[in-house]
Amino acid sequence: MNLILLGPPGAGKGTQAQMIVERYHIPQISTGDILRAAVKEGTDLGKQAKAFMTKGELVPDEVVIGIIDQRLREPDCKTGFILDGFPRTTPQAEALQAILTKIEKSVDHVVNIEVDSEELVRRLTGRRTCKNCGGMFHIHFHPPQKEGVCDRCGGILYQREDDREETIRTRLKEYQKQTAPLIKYYQDKRLLRPIQGVGGQSQIFEQVVRALGTTPA
Ligand code: AMP
Repeated sequence: MNLILLGPPGAGKGTQAQMIVERYHIPQISTGDILRAAVKEGTDLGKQAKAFMTKGELVPDEVVIGIIDQRLREPDCKTGFILDGFPRTTPQAEALQAILTKIEKSVDHVVNIEVDSEELVRRLTGRRTCKNCGGMFHIHFHPPQKEGVCDRCGGILYQREDDREETIRTRLKEYQKQTAPLIKYYQDKRLLRPIQGVGGQSQIFEQVVRALGTTPA
């Protein structure tokens, strides 16, 4: 099953992607995670991406398209994949289509998680990530047992630079301008599966499973 997860920053794409990975055994491909790892390692890719990411702007299309082109050819994508955070612009969606045609694949569903923007700001500013294992917490909705410390591995929790309020407003504007047009793009292709991104994680996941319309393995 080949999936795209669409939705504004903070809609819960990462969480739902992880739940899909566990249930359907297909890899999650997050351009955000790949870019953050590159920034951390200080690679050429990371150096190119860093300034855009810190400001909350999108990294240039050709950079992320190159990442996806390579990644989708890896053997673990044979049985399917979840694209989380890609495509984010119309040129990216068109490039994806061309890549998939080349490797004789196609998209089965585009899951669009809908959440209103004030709720997104509240969610994103409270988000904390573990420096060590990448575990995600939230100061209101999913606090760690000990403030500032990861429950899973004891690592230090921090606020991602791009989760600060001003950056978040930029990210949301970028989403409206550049990514929201993809909703219509995929609606026209009859691939869009709208999901209400409010309520508990498992309630949202139930909607996702229903939308995918398949009995999980
Ligand atoms: P995310 O974790 O998906 O919110 O991504 C964090 C940041 O990485 C974004 O704010 C962008 O700067 C960059 N990024 C991730 N995916 C893309 C993409 N598909 N196109 C352009 N920039 C991206």
